[in-house]
Amino acid sequence: MTDKFPDLIDPLLFAERRSALSGALPIAVFERLSDSVIDPDGNVDVEIEFGKQGKRIVISGHIKGTLQLECQSCLQAMAWPLDSDFKLAVVSSLQEDKQFEDYEPLLMDGETISLNALIEDEILLALPDYPRHQYDCIERNRSEDSAYNATDSQIKAENPFSVLAKLKKTGD
Ligand SMILES: [Zn+2]
Repeated sequence: MTDKFPDLIDPLLFAERRSALSGALPIAVFERLSDSVIDPDGNVDVEIEFGKQGKRIVISGHIKGTLQLECQSCLQAMAWPLDSDFKLAVVSSLQEDKQFEDYEPLLMDGETISLNALIEDEILLALPDYPRHQYDCIERNRSEDSAYNATDSQIKAENPFSVLAKLKKTGD
């Protein structure tokens, strides 16, 4: 357990110790998310476990949080709940990936991996292609507009009549 999440780690060391990490990461550290996230305030809660299957290093984890995305219908902010599990098997070449059906291959070409990049990849994979409000936000915006216009034009419409009525009364 640690609150300060390490970024660059040696997965072999973590796997041999069967280490587990958990903590909160600020959404603002994920630069590649900045195109999708309107408001980078807040954190994602991350849990990661390292282990081995035979000689293979495996990493499983869970990411949870709320991201502020742009609704593709009304272009307003919408809170999107992120709740994603992942299972990765560390490979040194992508040709190995067929051996592990349950696990996504994680290509490692050096001795360390970046946990921030790994978590960011998983968040990017989980993001919806077309984030949209679950209600009909365009229809709601439009009816709010027309309700406003109706009251507005009703006030305008009522005035000439009441003036006319007053004129009629004085005329009689
Ligand atoms: Zn919307």
